Amino acid sequence: MDYFPAFLDLRDRPCLVVGGGDVALRKVRLLASAGARLKIVAPEFGDSLSTLASENGYQLVRRKFRSADVLGHWLVVSATGDALVERAVYRCASAAGIFCNGVDDIDNCSYITPAIVDRSPIIVAISSGGAAPVLARTLRASIELLLPAGLSTLAVLARQWRDRVRGRFDDLLGRRRFWESVFDGPAASLAIAGDIPAAEAQMAELLDDAGITCAGEAWLVGAGPGDPGLLTIRALQVLQTADVILHDRLVSAEVLALARRDADLISVGKTPGGQANSQDEINALLVDLVSRGKRVCRLKGGDPFIFGRGGEEAEALDAAGHHYQVVPGITAAAGCAAYAGIPLTHRDLSQSVVFVTAHGKHSIDNLDWASLARDRQTLAFYMAVRRFPALMNNLIENGRSPDTPVAVIEKGTTPQQRVIRGTLGQLTLLSEAHRIAAPAMLIVGEVAALGTTEQSPMPQSPRIYAKPEFKIQEKRLTK
Ligand code: SAH
Repeated sequence: MDYFPAFLDLRDRPCLVVGGGDVALRKVRLLASAGARLKIVAPEFGDSLSTLASENGYQLVRRKFRSADVLGHWLVVSATGDALVERAVYRCASAAGIFCNGVDDIDNCSYITPAIVDRSPIIVAISSGGAAPVLARTLRASIELLLPAGLSTLAVLARQWRDRVRGRFDDLLGRRRFWESVFDGPAASLAIAGDIPAAEAQMAELLDDAGITCAGEAWLVGAGPGDPGLLTIRALQVLQTADVILHDRLVSAEVLALARRDADLISVGKTPGGQANSQDEINALLVDLVSRGKRVCRLKGGDPFIFGRGGEEAEALDAAGHHYQVVPGITAAAGCAAYAGIPLTHRDLSQSVVFVTAHGKHSIDNLDWASLARDRQTLAFYMAVRRFPALMNNLIENGRSPDTPVAVIEKGTTPQQRVIRGTLGQLTLLSEAHRIAAPAMLIVGEVAALGTTEQSPMPQSPRIYAKPEFKIQEKRLTK
């Protein structure tokens, strides 16, 4: 973080503005809206600034800036447009330990001002740290659209109810539940629509509702294969609601960064080179947390119900009498294939796709190889890296051609993604030559030859995926 974001209480605090033109006028208006006591120094003042100052009792000092002007102020803004003056103001302020902002002059700033969405008391401030102010303004425009004007009314109402709610719930959890029920429910929409009496009636009902303090909740949530852009909106909402996130080790740091700030993050499952938590231990921990009234997000890679043992966790919660919800995720086969430009099915090449786990010797022996070796289907193997030789031999022995295309996608959808392509007969060699390591997805079938690049770069934004890399479209056009 290049800059530390903070909201300053400037009410009745002396602040200095250097400059008398239109830019200074804007800054004066902004500081005045936060209640600052203003002194403005400039050899000349524009008419609007003079009028504003005399109407509001701001101190106007009609002369050039002097170093002693900064003294006794909490904040300084320099809006002269003159590089030498800006530098001098910045130096004097810094020497006196006062934060200074040279407007549009990042070199003469010890603080920068963000783009603001004002729904006071809710304020959203956006900064690009000076890197891309226009981008910050574009973001502001999007956020302006998202936040209804009535948000102010809702926030003011919440402030008015604070003491009452505190009197009703003496624990933090109870209060948070109450407010979440308000903000997620009809009370909020009524307040935003301006119907305060109806909103307050709803809130009074919630305040009486003892159920708000009742037991915890659980969600079994799919985090997708890595790229946080592949989370569902529902998953994001749960991540921002849950008190505890019980996550698999494979869930990416970028996804975890989206959790509620004060949530407890607990990593379960295998640690590199370390001991794995047993599934029974994970189930017991999950049930225990929910029993203690926590709202628990059990966050799993990909989809929770595809080779994720989510079914067992659901059973454990059921057995303990806890309610839970399942939020599906993008499973690794779908995510990895898409990011490698491989369509898992294709009208001309493959009518079905089979998700197979090759974990452990046991599963290799139990698979129906004759059926898996059939043509015109795609196989997506999970947890297969150490089983490549056995997979290759079984498929070929059961009749799948050694020339069948394969693709291995390692760390798919992450910036470290590698896509290695070849044929079924080359699988073991490819794996050794490229030192393929888990997590990796093996795709077997004609579709694995589609997609343009040997090693797909990590595309930078989801928009890129809207334009698939493979060439089906071209083929159709030339027919
Ligand atoms: N529930 C998960 C699968 C868990 S099993 C899902 O639906 O995706 C773990 C296996 O998934 C790994 O061994 C690997 O085969 C695959 N996998 C998970 N994330 C992956 C990734 N980012 N890239 C490639 N394979 C991945």
